[in-house]
Amino acid sequence: MDLKKLASALIPDKDLLPTAEYEKIYPERRMEVKAEVTRLAPSPTGFIHLGNLYSALADERSAHTTGGIFYLRIEDTDEKRKVDGAVESVIRSLRYFGIGFDEGAEIDSPLNKYGPYYQRQREKIYKSFVKDLIEKGLAYPCFCSEEELGSVRERQTANKETTGYYGKYAKCRSLSEDEIYKNLKEGKKFVIRLKSQGSIENKIAFKDAIKGEVTVTENDQDVVILKSDGIPTYHFAHAIDDHFMRTTLVIRGEEWLSSLPVHLELHKVLGFKPPKYAHTSSLMKMDGETKRKLSKRKDPELSLDYYRKAGYFPLAVVKYLMTLLNSDFEEWCLKNPDADYRSFRFRIEKMNKSGALFDLDKLNDVSKNEISRLSAEECFEFLNGWVTEFGTDSDREHFKDRDYIVKILNLILGVGGKKRRKDIERAEQGVRLIDYFFDDTFAPEYNYRFGKDIVNAVLDGFSKLYNEADDNSVWFGKVKQVAEDVGFASEMSVYKAEPEKFGGSVSDIAEILRIAVTGKPNSPDLCSIMKILGGARSVGRMKNGRI
Ligand code: GLU
Repeated sequence: MDLKKLASALIPDKDLLPTAEYEKIYPERRMEVKAEVTRLAPSPTGFIHLGNLYSALADERSAHTTGGIFYLRIEDTDEKRKVDGAVESVIRSLRYFGIGFDEGAEIDSPLNKYGPYYQRQREKIYKSFVKDLIEKGLAYPCFCSEEELGSVRERQTANKETTGYYGKYAKCRSLSEDEIYKNLKEGKKFVIRLKSQGSIENKIAFKDAIKGEVTVTENDQDVVILKSDGIPTYHFAHAIDDHFMRTTLVIRGEEWLSSLPVHLELHKVLGFKPPKYAHTSSLMKMDGETKRKLSKRKDPELSLDYYRKAGYFPLAVVKYLMTLLNSDFEEWCLKNPDADYRSFRFRIEKMNKSGALFDLDKLNDVSKNEISRLSAEECFEFLNGWVTEFGTDSDREHFKDRDYIVKILNLILGVGGKKRRKDIERAEQGVRLIDYFFDDTFAPEYNYRFGKDIVNAVLDGFSKLYNEADDNSVWFGKVKQVAEDVGFASEMSVYKAEPEKFGGSVSDIAEILRIAVTGKPNSPDLCSIMKILGGARSVGRMKNGRI
């Protein structure tokens, strides 16, 4: 058969470059040997989730801890799944978490020499290579219809055979020249398939950068490489793109591990050296007693928007994911509490071989910790960012008074104290936590543990004694005074020794005052709160708190 003629009949494009040209257009990158080139290769579906962030972080860290490059490629071969604005949303979402690309789709960079970074714009490159494979007898047209393929699959399933297009089932492999041209003349639709040279009798030993030694069976399937619309399949585009974009390390979900034999064969027939592969396991969660994959349908926390809306501190999410990526990260953080996480030596080989367990409670802890390390001004910026996007009108009104909120945050974070307080877990919860500092959002619950007589006597008594200018010790002296006036112990030790002698203790008095002023039984230092609220407002609240 005249394969050159066949290749031209199947791929009539006149303007294709010879395959060898592409080696010159996309030369090897000049980098240190250890430098890794990694990529995120999402479909532009608009949904970017925690798993993408997890894997993007592994990509970004692998590249940037080795002096390499992290780029963005858009796998838009499936037109149906395309959503407008999806690429920008990927970039924006990752940027929110401090992850940036060096190169790629919609990235303004002088490094952009390996594009186009949208697969749909790379049609000529794919076709040039497909044509070459046809000329070499390594690829052929297949005219089988969906129905034919479906009924073969049914037969294979019934016979308990491997399904697919291979061996005796690869019908179009043996079409004669006449049959092919007759089909073409009739305008029959066709795809281009790889003429697999492999055999399932052969095993390939392969080293996955995460999973370690893996043995896989050689591919013998004549997989589709070019669809009937001239668009490549994932398999073929992956081989071409990762080769010519000079990716050194492909980090991708473990669902692709089963396609690895196909990818290895494609690299072989194309004459490319395969990249290193790292197949990541899915993020898991505990659902009652069982561990299962995070699911788009069941788990809102899979969506990255969830974290933005709930106001997680972005660095906390990243640091938490780092603990899942490399188990020694946590220990490193304890030893280097003030260090930038980027100075940790991330290693892909240390990644979890089985599914990492994602635990929201742990994330909350990390988030609390990170926020507690902020200055009041930094915390203001963080909360204000959330308020601007997700807060209520009244939140936005409150946040116009920066000085007032900074004062509150100094107190809430325990700035200047012996130990920082860890009361703020997320922006949403943090903003609600300070609601009581504003009259319009002050919603007291007067759940006193004492009766009317005591409560009113305490509030009246303290209101009379209170002076805004009092320092902490004078203030506390007055609380003690009120305690004595109502027959409560003014010293805890005295109360503890003989509790039956008193109606309560000084700490009960403070609780009554706290409930009246803040609306709840727990808060940071009450004397400071009263100072921030101001004398008149504090006394007003004590009056309103009477029952
Ligand atoms: N577009 C593929 C996906 O989103 C990329 C897989 C890969 O990273 O190679 O699953």
